[in-house]
Amino acid sequence: MSSSRRIGVFGGAFDPPHNMHVALVEAALAQLRLDELRVFPTGYAWHKSRTLSPPEHRLAMAQLAFGSLPGVVVDAREIQRPGPTYTIDTLRELQAEQPGAELFLVMGADQARALPTWHASEALLQTAIISVAARADSANAIGTDGHQDDAARAKFEFSDLPPPWNAGRFEILQLPPMAVSATDIRQRVASSQGIAHLVPDGVARYIDQHHLYRTAR
Ligand code: ATP
Repeated sequence: MSSSRRIGVFGGAFDPPHNMHVALVEAALAQLRLDELRVFPTGYAWHKSRTLSPPEHRLAMAQLAFGSLPGVVVDAREIQRPGPTYTIDTLRELQAEQPGAELFLVMGADQARALPTWHASEALLQTAIISVAARADSANAIGTDGHQDDAARAKFEFSDLPPPWNAGRFEILQLPPMAVSATDIRQRVASSQGIAHLVPDGVARYIDQHHLYRTAR
């Protein structure tokens, strides 16, 4: 039996973190039998077209959403690193800090489909096991009330990726797809709709106290 530590890596803008992010972290910890899962709020996200909320807010909300989950560490290094955030840099730092650890890069299916466009994506495949959760998009209409119209379409098939990415090491995380996104939450706040059912309580309070997302972006 291998004794290497199993470390999950979950990056995101977390602008704000929401209930599906939390469900994904919990599923990854259990299903991948992780010793530890590190959450990385991104610094400058070169692939996102809009300006993100200030990093100190996203870091504070990530602490509120994930900080009390056993086995989870919120890691600020991508926020502190100057320049664009590249996941490969983070993975290489973790490899140097914990030699021999097995790294699991956790993401939603939208990110997995876009893997070929990631910076140094072939190196990513060699460095980590890509661990993917199905993501419901609005067309699939799998609502937050749990009603499922077309769960099959939310599935990620890594064999659909072009070579060499389809030869990577993948794990599929089993959890019910939920059509929640940070974009939707920001829009709801801007139009004075409730978000209590979409984010952890502490995050909802933080958004309110700091007047975040009151104007649409
Ligand atoms: P935005 O709407 O602002 O683009 P987001 O909701 O996609 O944000 P991110 O912080 O960009 O949130 O996502 C971090 C990670 O969580 C990504 O790997 C993304 O695929 C995944 N993720 C986010 N929402 C879901 C969801 N509903 N189902 C599965 N994965 C998700």
